[in-house]
Formats: sequence, structure tokens, C-alpha cells
Amino acid sequence: MLNLKNITKIYKTSSFEQKALDDVSISFRNNEFVFILGESGSGKTTLLNIIGGLDNSYEGDLIINGKSTKNFKNEDFDSYRNNLLGLVFQNYNLINHLSVLENVELPLKLANVDYKKRKELALLSLKKVNLENHIYKKPNELSGGERQRVAIARAIVNNPKIITLDEPTGALDSKTSIEIMELIKEISKEKLVIMVTHNPDLAEKYSTRIVRLLDGEVSSDSMVCSNEEEQKEKFANSATPEKAKMSFWTAFRLSARNLMCKLKRTLMVGFAGSIGIIGVSVVLALSSGITDYINSMQEDMLSGNPITIT
Ligand code: ADP
Ligand code: MG
Repeated sequence: MLNLKNITKIYKTSSFEQKALDDVSISFRNNEFVFILGESGSGKTTLLNIIGGLDNSYEGDLIINGKSTKNFKNEDFDSYRNNLLGLVFQNYNLINHLSVLENVELPLKLANVDYKKRKELALLSLKKVNLENHIYKKPNELSGGERQRVAIARAIVNNPKIITLDEPTGALDSKTSIEIMELIKEISKEKLVIMVTHNPDLAEKYSTRIVRLLDGEVSSDSMVCSNEEEQKEKFANSATPEKAKMSFWTAFRLSARNLMCKLKRTLMVGFAGSIGIIGVSVVLALSSGITDYINSMQEDMLSGNPITIT
């Protein structure tokens, strides 16, 4: 169960303040397909960022399973995202130097799942989105629709209870959009799916509930969740989710891989960094050399003119 209570979000820049969300309260059921509809700039992405725990500078409260997130630390949000939530971003956010399979495996790596299980779950997830024949390709070798399916496979790989999607069909042609929507509909049968779009036709066709946003306010909600429902809807297994933890070696290998993929840039940064160190070494070497030289000159000259003390 997910509740937003009186959320107000104001973006502050040096010259102006922009109210992106204005006192938004929504309670979501455990199993429904909610569409957040609204014009561009109405606060949809801001709302998803707050639900995803990606933004925590706002007024109001996000309540997960009856628990306020006001005192959540970063690691609590990490564990929430890793155990309960699957996020699909507007621009896919896939990692280009990793293969499709490795991209989908990533959330499991973060959760420190062992190699065999990881591969098994990732393959299962890729099968669900019909991409089992493309697992060794890189994201830039795929079409837009295929990339979106990789993003969906990655979001469902750890079997989360909540999936959020930000305009998943925004950049796709109508045929591919329908394929993606059918896929999401299948997923929504047993999860809470929150999808953001500005396309009312999609919402009419696929949603079980439509929430409309207008200038940061909820202007209509087709199926408000009542207080009694809210009490009933707490997740069946409300045990504290496991902490997300990535082993040191996994983090090390991922970083090394990233550096190797951008070898030219890494070498140039290394060279630029070393110029500073080389400069300091040269100055120190010169100063010590010159001091030695002057000392030996002085000794040579003074030994020709011995000072006699009587
Ligand atoms: P939507 O996803 O519905 O198009 P957003 O949630 O992205 O809308 O944005 C809502 C409003 O907040 C817009 O007016 C936008 O200009 C503003 N906004 C979004 N992100 C920022 C930001 N980082 N800084 C300042 N204003 C922002
Ligand atoms: Mg948006």
C-alpha cells in the first residue's frame, strides 16, 4: 500500500519559485493499473520521482505500508527501491556499455544475488518481454520499442510489488505502443502499476483508475481509495524488506568495466592528472639539484681561500 499525504513540491531557483505539486493526496491499492494523466508540465514526473524515493525535498509525507518515510535514511530508500519498486524512466536509462542481459541483471547484482540465480531470473524476465534472442546485444543496437522492453524487464526482474512508468510509449510509434501497453497490462494483473502519460486514449483503454493532474493539483480521481479500503490494503507480507547491499568486488568490477569501456577518456584523464604530479616532482628535483650545486661551488671556492684563525 502506498499513500501520498498532502504532498507539495516547490522547485526553487535563484530567480523564481515553481510550484510543481500542490497538496496532492492519493492512496493506491495493492493491485490496480493507475494512469496519471496531465498536460506537459503538470507535475507527473515530479510525482513519480517522489513515489520512487528519488526526490525527498518536499512537504507532506509518502507512506509505504503504513510507515512514514519522513525519517527514512538513504539506505532505507535503497532497500525500498530494491525490494518493492520497479522504475521505468522516460528515457529508458539503460547502461550502454553493458549488454541487454547485464542491464537486466543489475538490480540483482545490487541485491547481491549469486551469479547462477541472477542469470536465471534475468533470462526469465527477458523471456516475459520477448527479448530472449537479443540478450547479448548492446542497448544502442536495439529499436526504441526493444529498449523500452529491456527497461521493463529490468523493472520486473526482482518481482517488485509496485511498478512506475514515465510516458513509456511517448517516443514509440502506435503499433509498438500497443505491444508495450499489452505487456504492461499483463504485468499489472498482480501488481500496483502507476503509469504517467498525456495520452487519454491509452488511459481509457487500459486503466482501472485515472487520476488527472492539472497545474500540480489532482483535478479528478475516477476511483478514490476510501479509508476502510486503505486499512485492508496493507501488503500481506509487510516484513521489513532486506537491505540492498552490493559487494565490494561487484562494485569494483563494474567500475573497472566502465573505465575500460571509455579507455581513451580514462587515459587522457590519467595523463592530465599526472601533469600536476610531474610538475611538482620537476620543481622539487630542480630545487634540490641547484642547492647541491651551489653548496659544492661554495666548498670549491672557499677551499682556495682558507680562513686562518689565530
Ligand atoms: P510533467 O512530467 O508533467 O511534464 P514535471 O513534473 O517534469 O512535469 O514538471 C512540473 C513543473 O515543474 C514544470 O513546470 C517544470 O518546469 C518544473 N520543473 C521540473 N523539474 C524542475 C527543476 N529541476 N527545476 C525547476 N523546475 C522544474
Ligand atoms: Mg514528464
